Amino acid sequence: MHPPRHDVVIAGAGIVGLAHAYHAHRRGLSVAVLDRSAATTGSSVQNFGHCCVTAQSGRALEFARAGRPHWLELARRAGFWHREQGTLAVARAEDEWQVLREFAELREADEIRLLDPDEVTARAPIADPALRGGALLPWCFQVDPRSAAPAIAAWLAEQGVAFHRDTAVLGVEPGSVRTTRGTFTADHVVVALNHDVGDLFPEIADAYRVQRCRLHMLRADLGAALPLPVFTGWSMVRYSGFRDCPSTTALRDRLHAEHPELAGFDLNQMYTGLPDGSTIVGDTHARDRAAPPFQDERGFEVLLAETERLFGRAPRVRERWQGVYASAPEHEFMVERPLPGVRVVTVTTGIGMTTSMGLAESVLDQIASEQEETA
Ligand SMILES: Cc1cc2nc3c(=O)[nH]c(=O)nc-3n(C[C@H](O)[C@H](O)[C@H](O)COP(=O)(O)OP(=O)(O)OC[C@H]3O[C@@H](n4cnc5c(N)ncnc54)[C@H](O)[C@@H]3O)c2cc1C
Repeated sequence: MHPPRHDVVIAGAGIVGLAHAYHAHRRGLSVAVLDRSAATTGSSVQNFGHCCVTAQSGRALEFARAGRPHWLELARRAGFWHREQGTLAVARAEDEWQVLREFAELREADEIRLLDPDEVTARAPIADPALRGGALLPWCFQVDPRSAAPAIAAWLAEQGVAFHRDTAVLGVEPGSVRTTRGTFTADHVVVALNHDVGDLFPEIADAYRVQRCRLHMLRADLGAALPLPVFTGWSMVRYSGFRDCPSTTALRDRLHAEHPELAGFDLNQMYTGLPDGSTIVGDTHARDRAAPPFQDERGFEVLLAETERLFGRAPRVRERWQGVYASAPEHEFMVERPLPGVRVVTVTTGIGMTTSMGLAESVLDQIASEQEETA
């Protein structure tokens, strides 16, 4: 028995593969999704579930804005938990407050709201006496990363998208995908294997210098539920949207000079609340070709100490894990067409939840124009 021919076969059932399946299905195409894993275990469940729209720039901002309505539509249809309260950026020093003021001015159209310390503490249980103010980024939203991708996959399956789990892709040629469970045929193939892209397309992975970025992550009780995502100055110096603020470089230099150990872990101090009242706490970054499973305990100690400083009480840890995502030094996105009808798509930095829906829409636009040309 040969599997039936599809319009589109997608390798990889993480959020990038699922976003392509969703957009292909919306356009009336027949779709099959293949994944070597029995369940969603990759980056798409390891993350914060933070769709941080406004803090992006360039193409990432375009994809984040374009993807937002699709996420909200999917949350409604597939029935997974999400929240639209925006994101709270917390300033605990004059230079962080200055960056937020510059950002609000630069992004006037995004209606960023500057908050005084009382307005910050009314929104989140920040207890750091150094609190200087904050900003509410209203277009950001969050999903539950544990349930969003599995719910999208289940909903797509109900809509007629064929899912083949426990099915490893071994090779891709124009019009066909060879797997451990036979060969699938399709007019178009999308390969969305995240940091494993080099297993099938090593020359593309080499050209982008793809690495595996490893992160320390925790789930903890903070003593109070967090009603919206929170980040601090450590994220202001990482998110590309803040790069155009005149004071960001000086803030980065000051943070790195004052806290070399935190800088050494490449800290991104961020928090998202989950539906059960616990909070995802992160994260650190270390990049290499491989992802050794062993995590330096000091990374967790740094996260816990900084969390206690921000919220004024010691968090109770409920889970720890190592997250891994694809990273490329000079690219946020990989969209390549190595063979006719074959597209290799990877988000090569840690923003795939925020951008995948918009990115996939643009790839499906490319596929549609290719179909028109050949018709
Ligand atoms: C700790 C952490 C925190 C993050 N926080 C955020 C955040 O807050 N906001 C945000 O926007 N982004 C965040 N990200 C980034 C985001 O999670 C990723 O960019 C995104 O999930 C990547 O999706 P993906 O589908 O490419 O990868 P994955 O979810 O890893 O899916 C890839 C799939 O490919 C399958 N696969 C691999 N090889 C094969 C093969 N040969 N055959 C068949 N199947 C194969 C795997 O089994 C896997 O299911 C974070 C990432 C991490 C790790």
